Amino acid sequence: MQVLENHSLKALHTLGCEARARLFAEARTLDELRAGLALGRERGLPVVLLGGGSNVLFRADLEALVLKVALDGLEPAGEEGGQALVRAAAGVGWDALVEDCLRRGLHGLENLSGIPGTAGAAPVQNIGAYGVELAERLHSLEALDRHSGELRRLTARECHFGYRDSIFKRALRDRLVICAVTLRLSRAPAPRLEYAALRDELQARGLARPTPAQVRDAVLAVRARKLPDPAVLGNAGSFFQNPIVAPAAFAALRAVAPDAPGYPEPDGRVKLAAGWLIERCGFKGARRGDAGVHSGQALVLVNHGQARGQELLALADEIRAGVAARYGVRLELEPRVY
Ligand code: FAD
Ligand code: NAP
Repeated sequence: MQVLENHSLKALHTLGCEARARLFAEARTLDELRAGLALGRERGLPVVLLGGGSNVLFRADLEALVLKVALDGLEPAGEEGGQALVRAAAGVGWDALVEDCLRRGLHGLENLSGIPGTAGAAPVQNIGAYGVELAERLHSLEALDRHSGELRRLTARECHFGYRDSIFKRALRDRLVICAVTLRLSRAPAPRLEYAALRDELQARGLARPTPAQVRDAVLAVRARKLPDPAVLGNAGSFFQNPIVAPAAFAALRAVAPDAPGYPEPDGRVKLAAGWLIERCGFKGARRGDAGVHSGQALVLVNHGQARGQELLALADEIRAGVAARYGVRLELEPRVY
């Protein structure tokens, strides 16, 4: 395994901010992963795991070993309860996995088409889009315990999934390296069309009863229209999470913003649309130097070229203060900041 010193992370994450890692290595096997973790210990450096870099922000140079998890391999893993199991190593690209499963006639991930990043990072924030979350399709995962060096298996239940949340952001934060995920997929299509944007796109295509492949195409088209392509304009997708608030807080918001969207959660709370709040505060398309708010979706912060992580964080702080002052709503960042 090649270990690089003082390595630029600019091309290794989708926000594309300049920052250097004291050491950088890419682990393609379990042995290399173990060797990387051992090297971090030897050199007294924390190990920062990286997948596709689509949900991270580097605020400055890192006095760390950045270890890219690049284990490869995708294979059928049997059946359970009439559903097919598919095992993907952590470094497999998420969207390649979705496409591959559809090609095998295995359904359930189509709404999650086009999400950048790796299969191994998907459980960390329980990726979700267009009304579907990974949690519904994850069977189990394998992970290397950074303390004991043991391989562990966690069921979906043990991942404590929540809205863009999991045990990997909380009790087991920085404790495990996810090495592989096993997904549970259906042979019978069951399209999930709750989201208006997706329904409208399918309607415009004249597809009343779309196949999973047609749902995938529609999701990809809607995303391509609305979201900036990180290869063209640096971004990390949604920069803020949609807050989930108590009914009283939603009522208070509606008192000052009667048209504010709110989506009921199963537990009685209400999910707010952070992008709507940010847009109403006048930030859509705003720019501070090379740090900006995307003109097509105010939830997405963009790097117009040479923005540093700190500048994006300063813009994020300005937005949070603006939304809190006007609507009394607290926004939390979605990407992990290093
Ligand atoms: P990274 O950014 O590399 O890492 C994210 C975090 O996970 C880091 O803390 C890292 O240390 C940790 N991590 C990475 N790999 C491992 C591993 N193997 N084991 C343990 N920890 C690990 N997200 C959604 O939920 N829904 C969307 O629709 C969506 N759309 C997006 C659109 C765009 C244009 C972009 C840029 C991002 C979008 N995202 C979305 C966010 C992002 O793509 C997901 O969070 C994705 O799962 C991140 O994967 P990654 O491999 O890039 O992770
Ligand atoms: P959108 O369709 O314009 O909707 C705006 C917001 O309203 C979304 O955040 C969504 O919440 C919520 N929403 C819309 N319809 C809903 C419904 N029927 N039930 C419950 N909530 C509803 O959103 P968008 O910005 O174009 O994104 C489309 C999808 O892709 C969303 O699911 C979004 O989460 C996902 N996405 C995520 C990222 C990321 O980085 N996390 C980036 C781009 C897109 P949810 O966000 O909870 O779905």
